[in-house]
Order: sequence, then structure tokens, then C-alpha cells
Amino acid sequence: MTPAQPFDKLLEIVGDANFHQDDAAMVRFLDEPRDLFHKGARCAVTPTSVAMVQKVMQFAYQNGVSVVPQGGNTGLVGGQVPANGNEIILSLAKMRQVRDIDASTNVMTLEAGVTVLEAQKHAEEANRLFPLSLGSEGTCQIGGILSTNAGGTAVLAYGNSRDLCMGVEAVLADGRIYNGLSKLRKDNTGYDLKDLLVGAEGTLGIITAASMKMFPRPRAFETALLNIASPQVGVDVFEIVRERSGNRLTSFELLPTIGIDLQLKHDLIGRDPRSQDTPSNWHILMELSLFEGDQDGALMAVLEELVEKGLVEDASVCNSLGDRQLMWLMRENYSECQKREGDSIKHDISVAIRDIPTLIEEVDAVAEEILPGIRSVAFGHMGDGNIHYDFLAPEGFEGDLQASAPAIHAATYEILARLNGSISAEHGIGQLKADLLAQKKDPTALDMMKSIKLALDPKNILNPGKIVRP
Ligand SMILES: Cc1cc2nc3c(=O)[nH]c(=O)nc-3n(C[C@H](O)[C@H](O)[C@H](O)COP(=O)(O)OP(=O)(O)OC[C@H]3O[C@@H](n4cnc5c(N)ncnc54)[C@H](O)[C@@H]3O)c2cc1C
Repeated sequence: MTPAQPFDKLLEIVGDANFHQDDAAMVRFLDEPRDLFHKGARCAVTPTSVAMVQKVMQFAYQNGVSVVPQGGNTGLVGGQVPANGNEIILSLAKMRQVRDIDASTNVMTLEAGVTVLEAQKHAEEANRLFPLSLGSEGTCQIGGILSTNAGGTAVLAYGNSRDLCMGVEAVLADGRIYNGLSKLRKDNTGYDLKDLLVGAEGTLGIITAASMKMFPRPRAFETALLNIASPQVGVDVFEIVRERSGNRLTSFELLPTIGIDLQLKHDLIGRDPRSQDTPSNWHILMELSLFEGDQDGALMAVLEELVEKGLVEDASVCNSLGDRQLMWLMRENYSECQKREGDSIKHDISVAIRDIPTLIEEVDAVAEEILPGIRSVAFGHMGDGNIHYDFLAPEGFEGDLQASAPAIHAATYEILARLNGSISAEHGIGQLKADLLAQKKDPTALDMMKSIKLALDPKNILNPGKIVRP
């Protein structure tokens, strides 16, 4: 087959409007948030229906052409861009139909290209809540969040994307369509194929639609930023708040104060959201959701107890929608403020919640030994045991921060292994961590993953080079 032939055929399948190849058109498919992967692609296609996705995959299977599924292109591990450069990108961005909203069953069936923000709005129109909430929600899509099993800031109460999904429709490597758009809460009929496709990062099939859970809408939120002395206090606070509030506790985020200092320095927030009476190096951003029948003031009641017990030194409680928006803007800016400050070394890891203080103490100590003065920015979803563990160069440092990265990664992952943690809590493996996964994952688990990959994608044309390399 000559190189021209496949493109002619592909162009015929998707039509002019859905075929993209020139440099300017390819930028949006190839530029990714971390700016780490630059392999290019043969072309991109934007099919508008499941039937069109099926034809593209039949063509790819027959011709041995590799396909990289892409959603909103917000992934942080390079899963959505090619690993080799000879792949085609299949973007689901034009598959945006709402197939069904069933408020009585609390399920909505959405095509893969619907963004998370749109999904939230569709649920709201039905007087329901779609609870997934993450910094990229305006851009990331249902297919993408399912393929990465994305988490975000409400996992504590509602679970991650997998927990929010009842079923998927997907096109397999050979073009067969798997129709698993279930609304059933109980269905024990063999292997859970939905759970196999969720979190597979596009290596086992292309998700074209999904049935997603909806929930009752909270009538109010109570939000506060607590000043605490240390991550250990954060764990103690979490245990008490969880016990008092149960599932009303929606978010519990650990934030080092350096991130707020940086946001003020780089003009990312208009005012300082911290209470200044008793400054501290650590904070908890905590939110309770109140439903019909719940009384106002649940947050104040638990705060009083925390102050009485000497755990919380001071707190800034939100009194208006504007206050709450500022708090969440500040939380979402934790990555952006580091970008503005310069280069960084990053990890997205998880441990049991009680081990977070040990993790931070040990990793900070070893990083300081490796590069004295290095600035630790360990933040994130404490209530899920998930820390985004980043490091910035020491103030005034003129060397190459990345020269210290191998030693800091090695030490962090060694400490993590001792604590039985995970090398990827919510961002996935993609290309960034494929080698690391091969080193750190249990060999039997790796063998099982490779067997599944080979069974579903024997020609290795679906997102090659990501997760496992059979
Ligand atoms: C500012 C920002 C904040 C973020 N915050 C969080 C956070 O709080 N929690 C969190 O978990 N993640 C977070 N992320 C990363 C997160 O992975 C993505 O935002 C999201 O899950 C990816 O969705 P997407 O539609 O952009 O997918 P893409 O980036 O396009 O793709 C991600 C992966 O899924 C595959 N894929 C995409 N669509 C499909 C499909 N339809 N079928 C099969 N495979 C597919 C791709 O091949 C790739 O492997 C953040 C990212 C950014 C930029």
C-alpha cells in the first residue's frame, strides 16, 4: 500500500470537513498541556457518528494503521497524543449528542465528546447533579474522563469517573461495536467489560457514548479554608469531619501555603483568601454539601469542635458565592502558579490517608538533601489519599532543576513502594509513566494486562506505546 492510498480512503470515509492534515489544523490535536510530547501524527479525523468511528476502525484494522483516540486533549501523561508519529488521531470532539436524560432512573446517556461542564449543565436542567468536578472541566470530555478514570475534587462523596459510569458503548480495534449502555444498578452477567474500558486510556476500545449517574442537587454548600499546623493535623481533622458529616463532606483538599503566596505573587487571585489571625504553613479547603432537610450551620458546628480540640488554629469561612468561587479558583490555580514560577518536578501519587504525613516528611527530607533549598508544593485530594507532589527550584537558583529529577523521582517512588502507594493516583499512565509501570507493577498484574490488550487489540493498533507494551 502506498502512503497516499490510506489517506484517500480515510478522506472518503469521514469527508473533507472531518479530515485534518495541514500544520495549522493539527496544532489543536498535537499541543498538549505538559508540552512534553512532540511526535506528530499522520492526520486527525473527527467522526460525527458511531457508524463513522466504526468505518475508521475497520479501515485502520485492515491496513494496520494505528489510532490514538482523543477527547479534550487535557490529559497530563501524553496518552492522547502519538507515541510514534505514524498514528492517526481520532478525536471524538464532534460526537456531542445527548441521547437520553432519564431523571427517574438518575441516568443520562451522553456521547463521548460532551464536555464535563456540558454534562453538569444537562444534569442541572433535569434538576439533578453530575458531581464530577475538575480544573479541566470546560474542555475535558466524557470519553476522556472515563478513559483516564479521572478523579477531581468530589471523589470523596461520589467516587471517581468509574463510579459515576453505568455503561459504555465502544468501537473495538477491529471495528465491532460493543453496546453496553446499561442503566442497570444490578447486572451480574460475567466479566465487567465497562470496567475494563474505563481507565484503559484508549488502548482497548474507543468509547463513543456512556450512561452516567446523576444525583440529587445539594441546596447549599458550606466551605472553609482552615489554617493547620501540619499534614498530621490534617489527617486528624479529616477523621473528625468525616465522622460528623459522612457523605455531606464533598471535598477535603490539603494545600501548602506556598501555593497561595505564589498566586498572589503572579496576580492569579485578587485577594488573599487566608485568615491572617494565626498564619500557618498548611491549609485544608473543606466543603460540605447540604441537602433538603439538612440544617444550615453544619460546618460551623464541626469547626467549633476542631478549634476546641486545638486542631484548627484559625479559619476563613465563605459567606457568599463570591467567597466560595475565590476559594475554588485558588485551589484550581495550584498548577498554574507553579507554571508561572518556572520549571517543576511532578508526581501524582496516592497512599492510605494515614500515611500522608510520613510520605511528606520523608520525601521532603530526601529532596532537601538532593537539592538544598528546593521548594516543596505537596497539595491535593487529601481525603482520597492523593497528593500532587511537586517541587520548584530554590529561590534564585540558576541551574537546571531537571538534573535533580531522576534522583527525586527514584527516592519518591522508593518511599511510595514502602508505603504501598500508587505511582499514578488519577492522571493515568499514558506515555509518561509506561516505563515506570513496567518497573513497579506486580509482574502478574502486568502479564494479565498484556493478555487483555492482545486479546482485544491483537494488531496493537489502539493507542500503541501507552500503559503496557505487549
Ligand atoms: C487544568 C487541568 C486540571 C486537571 N485536573 C484533574 C483532576 O483534578 N483530576 C484528574 O483526574 N485529572 C485532572 N486532569 C487531567 C485529566 O486526565 C483530564 O483532564 C481528563 O480526564 C482527560 O479528558 P480529555 O477529554 O481531555 O481526554 P484526553 O486528554 O483527550 O485523553 C486522555 C486519554 O484518554 C484517551 N481517550 C480520550 N477520549 C477517549 C475515548 N472517547 N475513547 C477511548 N479513549 C479515549 C486518550 O487516548 C488518552 O489516553 C487535569 C488536567 C488539566 C489540564
